[in-house]
Amino acid sequence: MTANRRIGVIAVQGNVSEHVAAAQRAADERVDTVRIRNAGVVPDCDALILPGGESTTISHLLETEGIDEEIRAHAAAGKPILATCAGLIVAAADARDDRVETLDLIDAAVDRNAFGRQVDSFEAGLDVTGLGDPFHAVFIRAPVVDEVGPDVEVLATWDDRPVAVQDGPVVATAFHPELTNDDRLHRLALFDPLRSEAEA
Ligand code: GLN
Repeated sequence: MTANRRIGVIAVQGNVSEHVAAAQRAADERVDTVRIRNAGVVPDCDALILPGGESTTISHLLETEGIDEEIRAHAAAGKPILATCAGLIVAAADARDDRVETLDLIDAAVDRNAFGRQVDSFEAGLDVTGLGDPFHAVFIRAPVVDEVGPDVEVLATWDDRPVAVQDGPVVATAFHPELTNDDRLHRLALFDPLRSEAEA
């Protein structure tokens, strides 16, 4: 018998339990989910989730715990990552904010509180590349991507601005796919790549 797939949810701060539940629902097979607060766990994970929360805090804790380098190595090995909201900010190359030590996994610059002062939170139906019906997206003090490199695919836009992007093994959303019962983005980002790798 082969071991279950292991999905790591970075749990230094932010929306962790919703992502654990979404990953469990999205998997067609039994998976192990593990909450990660220390170094030494990421290397045993098949896929990672980098949740929303507060990007300044998350990036600082990743660095002090030594998890940042492990996440970079995971991405460099081509293993899937889903980053949401503050996770998108941390995963980008440039957060346009010196208080965020980015992981530089996505060749993009982000505007942290782009929708911020005008509207704190809103919901919208988005057309997402690779998904059929529109995705009901919940935005909470969301960032937008305001510059992308040539290898970044824009998967969805809102008001002509990118809000879901993919750079190799990393899929990132400005919104919170874990807050609805729609698991298609967790499948697209985490389980489709794992399945096609298993079939190759
Ligand atoms: N605005 C937050 C930040 O800059 C992100 C908000 C969220 O993850 N819901 O970190």
